Amino acid sequence: MAYEKELNVALNAVRKAAALCTSVQFRLLTADTMLKKDRSPVTIADYGSQAVMSALLAKSFSADPLIGEEDIDELEKNDDMRAKVLELVQEQIEGMDDHSMLAMIARGNAESGGSRCWTCDPVDGTKGFIRRQQYAVALALLEDGEVKVGVLGCPNLPAKNDDPAAGTGCLFYATKGGGAFMSDLRGSTSRQIHVDDLRDPSRTRFAESVESAHAAISVHRDISTTLGITTAPLQIDGQGKYAVLARGDVSIYLRYPKDDIYREKIWDHAAGAIIVEEAGGLVTDIDGAALNFSGRRMAQNRGIVATNGLVHTKVINVIAQHRERLG
Ligand code: AMP
Ligand code: MG
Repeated sequence: MAYEKELNVALNAVRKAAALCTSVQFRLLTADTMLKKDRSPVTIADYGSQAVMSALLAKSFSADPLIGEEDIDELEKNDDMRAKVLELVQEQIEGMDDHSMLAMIARGNAESGGSRCWTCDPVDGTKGFIRRQQYAVALALLEDGEVKVGVLGCPNLPAKNDDPAAGTGCLFYATKGGGAFMSDLRGSTSRQIHVDDLRDPSRTRFAESVESAHAAISVHRDISTTLGITTAPLQIDGQGKYAVLARGDVSIYLRYPKDDIYREKIWDHAAGAIIVEEAGGLVTDIDGAALNFSGRRMAQNRGIVATNGLVHTKVINVIAQHRERLG
């Protein structure tokens, strides 16, 4: 199988990073969180998770650059938080010291990856993580701006939608041309997943962000009303939205931008996009253009529309009409 070693290393890295996040989410203190320069929150789990994934990738693929969400600017100045991060990381990787930990987090600051690089979001949906709700640990391999491997750990996602008895905690993964799969977080009971087969948009359900600062929720309402959708959207933090689309819980993931300036970050979409595509779906921006993953930001794309493929053109057409109306 193509990318077998990359997939196995990535699965192990996401599992260990997810275990770190799980170990701390429900005992997170105010002092375990700070605000970054852009006013977005970061926790000891974000740093620890990036350190773990970076260290495990460095061990197997030392030449591959990593584009990760976190840098060490603030962490270097916060001794209390740094000590806590180190403790968490040592639970996953024996013998890690403070210096190597900072080096591993900083290793994730590649500006652009060249022909082959990894991208990670250590806690995707940090606001959901702090609310003790959904988040994802995301890791993807890119070659020439195209996603080849994607892994998403979703520790709080129900194994089955609307069936609490089935338990929580899912791992989603895909390789280019190899299909998409879901297992529990240990990696057992793996099964191939597929998007749903709904063709009539009015019968679909869509997923969107919980945070109204991250997507134009009111525009989603207009679009879904025009499509005739009557079921309430499934709101999930982070790339769990791609995961529920890939396994057929919803048919559409809408991410209409709040403004003209924001450009999506590759670590928020790379892993999710390949999982949806390998499950038979389609992922574009709001204009229907292919996503371009070269660089830290997706400079050429605005927003995201991911679907089961069957309703994609209808959704893109309704969005185009909406934009025409707005002028
Ligand atoms: P979600 O839970 O899907 O909204 O995704 C969380 C991600 O939204 C974070 O990882 C941020 O990188 C990203 N984000 C932050 N601000 C914005 C924004 N203004 N527009 C779109 N995404 C954003
Ligand atoms: Mg994120």
